[in-house]
Amino acid sequence: MGADETITDYLDEHYEHLATQARAIWERPETALRETFASRLIADDLAANGFEIEWGVGGMETAFVASWGSGEPIVGILGEYDALPSLSQDATPERRELVPGGPGHGCGHNLYGVAALGAALALRAAMQGAGTPGTVRYYGCPAEETLTGKTYMARAGAFDDLSAAITWHPGYANTVWSGSSLAMNSFKVHFHGVAAHGAGAPHHGRSALDGALLMDVGVNYLREHIEQDSRIHSVITDGGRAPNVVPPEATIWYFVRAPKRKQVDAIYARVLDCAKGAALMSGTTYDVEFLTGCYDLLPNETIGAIMLDKMEALGGVAFSDDEMAFATALQASLDADTIELARREVLHEAATGTTADHIGDVLCRNVIRPSDQPRILHGSTEVADVSHIAPTANLLACCHPLGSPGHSWQITAASGTAVGFRGMDFAARVMAMTGLELMTDARALRAARDEFEAATGGLPYVSPLPEGARPQ
Ligand SMILES: [Zn+2]
Repeated sequence: MGADETITDYLDEHYEHLATQARAIWERPETALRETFASRLIADDLAANGFEIEWGVGGMETAFVASWGSGEPIVGILGEYDALPSLSQDATPERRELVPGGPGHGCGHNLYGVAALGAALALRAAMQGAGTPGTVRYYGCPAEETLTGKTYMARAGAFDDLSAAITWHPGYANTVWSGSSLAMNSFKVHFHGVAAHGAGAPHHGRSALDGALLMDVGVNYLREHIEQDSRIHSVITDGGRAPNVVPPEATIWYFVRAPKRKQVDAIYARVLDCAKGAALMSGTTYDVEFLTGCYDLLPNETIGAIMLDKMEALGGVAFSDDEMAFATALQASLDADTIELARREVLHEAATGTTADHIGDVLCRNVIRPSDQPRILHGSTEVADVSHIAPTANLLACCHPLGSPGHSWQITAASGTAVGFRGMDFAARVMAMTGLELMTDARALRAARDEFEAATGGLPYVSPLPEGARPQ
């Protein structure tokens, strides 16, 4: 029996079990750094299958690394399991909150974590069956939604000895993620002034809110002089309590993003100069609270090509008629323009010759070849940090209807049903087979490493986190 068949058999046999695990995490959504139930559920399954678990990686209680096997190669499979606030939703095609205002799996990370679990277990089964040397790692990465987990795990050196890393994300197409994403810093600037009566004694006051507002004026002028594709956005999280009290405290929270890590560092320095100038103008002081930062994604094309081969060999995702019917009813909650825009986006990111028929109207059953001229995704992910430490590849598998907006109740709904479980199962198969190929084909692994060295210019990963930054 071929090793890929062992993987197929294992995942056929464990389909119901993995669906049950994904549903259990979906039923108990936990937001960033509170994922006690989800992390424990996944780690227990790994421990029961001979993996050794290390908890508390990177100073986070819900972060763990599970290892099985010994020696090289060391292939890491990344899992996430955090939910999002305010996206509580039943597994129904119409809007129905389960807990008013409660959290929900509106990014499908219940599927994300469990597909990675299925992949790690199936890869272990295949290696054990064939006596293949090497180490399988499952990375239990909490708090992706706050871009915290992997960044702090990376600073702790958790990925340093990896030969390669593989991961995925739920989406509405089956493809390899070939584009980059933006590097980012997230930080708050706290201004400190002097309170005074707003009308009676304003001359005694020094407004911290003035500091925050003047800083943002400076940043708005700066915006014209930063590289294309960079982004700066802010919110004032504390602007004082009442108009008749000169605000003694104010806080403004920024995300600074750019195509390359070095560009973020440069823009960040200039944004901090705006804070300095604003403090001088307003007679206030300030301090900076650095929350998190991440790199730009470096997709490894060598591993991506192996993934694509495995996806094509599997032939895509076989959604049942029931799954299709549920997805069609769910998609009816979206307007036609949103769906059309999504279709055009998938086509834009796909190889020349891909047709709308190939993508499908509701659920994508086929494998979409990515364009050889990939775009920059204008979001950020801390998978990017791993991609600067080891060759890393990422796939997307269809888990919700075409057009479902990111972080939406529609994704929560689909992620609690067989629609999501079917895509999750496909991702688990592709990741396990890709992992096995990397374990057994030294030439492919070497090529992935050479590509990685060329892309990073041999520069070591330097954590974007300043000394003293703590996960929060
Ligand atoms: Zn996500």
